[in-house]
Amino acid sequence: MKVGILSLQGSFFDHQKSLDLVSLESLLIKTPEDLDKVDGIILPGGESTAMSKISSYNNLYKKLDTKIKQGLPTLSTCAGTIILAKSVIDGDTHIPNIDIEIQRNAYGRQNESFEADVKFLNNNDIYCFIRAPKIIRTLNNDVKVIATQIEDIVGVSQNNIVSLTYHPELTNDNYYLEWLLAFMKEGKYVGSF
Ligand code: GLN
Repeated sequence: MKVGILSLQGSFFDHQKSLDLVSLESLLIKTPEDLDKVDGIILPGGESTAMSKISSYNNLYKKLDTKIKQGLPTLSTCAGTIILAKSVIDGDTHIPNIDIEIQRNAYGRQNESFEADVKFLNNNDIYCFIRAPKIIRTLNNDVKVIATQIEDIVGVSQNNIVSLTYHPELTNDNYYLEWLLAFMKEGKYVGSF
């Protein structure tokens, strides 16, 4: 199988490294046609406004929206999660597909970025939050909370989508990598693997 990484801007090379580490083939996605070649997709962190501006040049988001709605296994991190959120405080909606309300830049400016202990499924690890958004609430009973940082929701899943607000691709711990492989192979959220 081949996993696409939205590669308009942001940390796409880091996600490619994660996929390399679990021997999953990857493709950097820059055009709508690229989306026909992959069996899963990762929307990286970066700057959601910049990505959306670039995507408008070739209608990439429209096709991405269709593919996600058809069930393409989808992992988003940080700005990628803003792009998929149905409701965005202090920002625009882009490809609304996951029933959460999210607030952009909720922890402050770039230099207020931090590392923190995250409980992701059955594991605890330290992850980076880089000018991260915050998931304020879920908007549908369908949405499962799968990652928390103290009391904040930092990861959710709904159908074929898993959305995180932090950057596991910068840590590449074994638990995350094993989960990533299982998620992409299964085609939907996996709680144990
Ligand atoms: N602050 C960015 C945004 O609003 C997200 C930051 C990130 O992806 N690390 O798009």
